[in-house]
Order: sequence, then structure tokens, then C-alpha cells
Amino acid sequence: MSTTNTLFIGGEWQSAASGAEFDTLDPATGQPNARVADAGAADADAAVAAARAALGSPDWAGITPAQRARILWRIGDLIEEHAQELAELETRDQGQPIGISKAVSVAGAAEHFRYYAGWVTKIYGETAPLSFPGVLQYTKREPVGVCALITPWNFPLMIATWKIAPALACGNTVIVKPAEQTPLTTVRLVELCRQAGVPAGVVNLLTGGPEAGRALVEHPGVDKVSFTGSTETGRAIIQASAGNLKRVSLELGGKAPSIVLPDADLDAAVAGCLQGSLLNSGQVCAAYTRFLVHRSLADEFAQRCAKAVAGMRLGPGIAPDTELGPLVSAEHRDHVDALVRSGVKEGATLLAGGSPADDLPGFFYRPTVFMGVRDDMQIARKEIFGPVLSVMPYEDEDEAVARANDTEYGLAAAVWTRDIASAHRLAGAIRAGTVYINMPNPLDASAPWGGFKSSGWGREMGRGAIDLYTEVKSVWTSLA
Ligand code: NAD
Repeated sequence: MSTTNTLFIGGEWQSAASGAEFDTLDPATGQPNARVADAGAADADAAVAAARAALGSPDWAGITPAQRARILWRIGDLIEEHAQELAELETRDQGQPIGISKAVSVAGAAEHFRYYAGWVTKIYGETAPLSFPGVLQYTKREPVGVCALITPWNFPLMIATWKIAPALACGNTVIVKPAEQTPLTTVRLVELCRQAGVPAGVVNLLTGGPEAGRALVEHPGVDKVSFTGSTETGRAIIQASAGNLKRVSLELGGKAPSIVLPDADLDAAVAGCLQGSLLNSGQVCAAYTRFLVHRSLADEFAQRCAKAVAGMRLGPGIAPDTELGPLVSAEHRDHVDALVRSGVKEGATLLAGGSPADDLPGFFYRPTVFMGVRDDMQIARKEIFGPVLSVMPYEDEDEAVARANDTEYGLAAAVWTRDIASAHRLAGAIRAGTVYINMPNPLDASAPWGGFKSSGWGREMGRGAIDLYTEVKSVWTSLA
């Protein structure tokens, strides 16, 4: 593959039909990393045709579940064998510290393939206790078909595997469309899939921007769209998918509350909240951003957070001692800065940070702590997706829960308390897909992941993803 032949269609690496291409930048320097193909509608047509042809092919539809499982397991092995290379590539393309690339992105990607390799031979149907005499009925789970998998820029490798692994486990064929800011590890992953024995046309890749994504979601030959990205784009995808009523699953934005009760272990809460909010410079959909802290602890909590973030080492992710890497792009840094400016303007008190780190090349932002944030401020309502913490004091538990739920999002939340009854009372009352008690916000291939409200549709990971990538067929037979 030459550098701009980054489209993979029907087993062939190629450039865009239009010849269009673009640079992807290293966010730590702002300098170009690589040049990639910019796919358009003609490339989407070719990828859909290839995926459709492969769907019923003997070397995909005709292989046994055990053979399919072995291919998925081999992809996990190959990811692990290339762990250092993939981690460095992710860091140079996305910006995340190399330790995060290794321990979260690459390790998570390998585990995801192994987890779904295990599922391939356990995708069961059911028999129902029908009230008809003389009839045998059973269900089977069949592949949905051609799946368009569209991913964001914050954890490109890992999020691609959240979709590719279960889609292949269920026997689908796919077209992957990574974010234009961060395509490089997905290109490498697709090469590894082929090396592991995925037949031509089963995994196709379109590098490119929103136009390539739109061409896929509007395409009548696509049966399902799985999307991770912003809520705004999620809404556009629902509308664009209406033509042939595509199956749509969506992992969208978040604005996670973290409620610190008066009996919380403050040391653990401060450490866990910082970890849960600053991973990958806050570019995490589940990042804790609204710190609802009981008034008796709020000042102390905010001062400790401010002191901790002021001492953090910013730098290129590739340097092993870096604690906070850059934001993904100049555009995103400006988005974070504009929201921070709005917080100052609307009267929040800035305790730390509050500006880009102009002394560094690339797209760095100083970790920022606000105190006295009101619920109506933009920093309390909009997804910032950056290293910005807002401390919001509250008086009693009912108020904390009502304010935690006063958001269009419902992806994740945290509760900090020593009292087990309070912990589970709040876990029940908070409207979010995941609630963490006394801990930061990790993910695991076996635990369902997805959002309430405008944070999405469906659940990835665990058994939920098998539901997303299969259609249930009910077969009736007369025994007469
Ligand atoms: P984005 O919505 O701008 O783009 C995501 C992807 O969609 C990219 O590949 C982009 O090219 C493509 N795209 C853009 N417009 C499109 C359209 N009209 N039709 C089809 N495809 C289109 O999101 P982003 O800025 O890359 O990512 C950040 C967002 O992702 C944040 O809102 C974050 O919360 C969310 N996110 C959610 C999760 C989750 O699991 N819920 C995980 C990571 C990120």
C-alpha cells in the first residue's frame, strides 16, 4: 500500500476514484503525519458492492462458526504482536499519552476481538412454548448484512474494534469509516484483519470525512449503521438512514455528573475524579465533567483539584513522562477555549488553567478547574470534550440527583460515598447507561456500554452487541 492508497475495497488497496487526498496531522506538533485518500460517493458505491458480494460468498458465509472464531482470535493475537507499533501510531495520530495507547487502546482492541471470538460459537436461537399443537418452532440469529461502521477521533483503534469484532462474529460484512482526523491505526487494523485470514470484501475501509460517511448512511445497499460520535451527527444519521429503514445503533455525547456525598473518602474522590475527567485530556465521552460536591466539601475538593492539575506535565504523548497530551486539532482546542471563555464571562470562578498552552507547539490546553458553576452556564450544559472540570456545590441528595439528571445526555455518572445504601439509591435514581461507584470510568468488553436519552441507541459490548449485529428469524414447521 502506498501512503495515499488507504481505501481497502474488495481486498485491494486503492486511492479515491476522484484522486482526492488530505493530510492527517500530529496534534503534538501540528505537522503532517501522513497523506490519506479522501473517499467520496463513487468509492462508497464500490465498497458497498464489494461488501454485498462477500456477504454470501463461500469463504465467508460458507465457513463454520469455529473457523470464524479462529480468524477473530488471530486478529487479537496480531494486534498484540504489533502492540508497540500500533500504540506509537495512535499516539502520533491522536495525541494520547503512549501509556494510554498501550494499556487502553491497544490492549482493549486485542481483548475485544478475543471476547467476540468466544461469542461466535455461542450465538444461540431459542424455542418458544407455542400454544399450537403439532408445530415445531425455533429462532435463529442471522447476520444483518452490510454494516457501515463510522467512528470518532478520540479512541480510533479501540472504537473501531467495538464495531468490527461483533459485526464479524455475527457473520456480517463491513465498511469502516474512521474519523478524518485519526485514520492511521484503522488502516493498520484493516491490514491485520486481512493478514489474519478475513476474506476479501468482508472488511472494507474508506478513509475520508463527513461526505464519505453521508454516502454510506444514505446508501440503499447498506443494511445497518453503527455510529460513535457527536449527538448532532447522530441525529443527521437517523434521518439519512430512513430511506431503507437501516438498523441504527448510536453511541453519542455525554456530560457525566460525578456526585460526591458528604461522607465520601475525599482523597479517593479527588484522585478518582481527576482520573475520570482527564484521561486522554478529557476527550472521553464518559469523562466526569460536572462535579456535584456537597457544600461541606466543595471548597476543599475544588482547591485540591486545582492544585493537582496545576502540577501536571503537558507534553507530546510519545514522551514517556507526559501526563497530559494535546487536544486532537486546532479546531477542537478553539472549541474548548471558547467554552472556557463563556464560563468566565458567565461568572464562574477560574481556579486553574483557562487557556491554551501557547509555549508548546501543537494543540495543547491547560487543565482547567472552575468553582461556583451554575446549571444554566454553557460549561455545565454543553459537551466540552476537553480538560475542564466544573465544581457545583449542592445542599441535599434530592437536589444533587435532580441536577445530575438535568441534562439531555445520559451516558455515564459517578457516585462517591462510604454508605452502600446511598450508593445504590443514587445508582437507581440517575438516568445514565453506566453508573460508577467510588471509581473512575473504565470499560470492559463484557459490560454493556451505551446511553440513555440523547447519548444514544443500543448497547455495545457484552451480549448487547450480538443483538445489534443479528436479525432474529422465527421458523415454524408443521409436524403433521
Ligand atoms: P463527529 O460526529 O463530528 O464525527 C464522527 C464521525 O462521523 C467521523 O468519522 C465523521 O467523519 C463522521 N460524520 C460526520 N458527519 C457525518 C454525517 N452527516 N453522516 C455520516 N458520518 C458523518 O464526532 P467527533 O467530533 O469525531 O467525536 C466526538 C464525539 O464523539 C463526542 O460528542 C463524543 O462524546 C462522542 N463519542 C461518544 C462515545 C460513546 O461511546 N458514546 C465514544 C467516543 C466519542
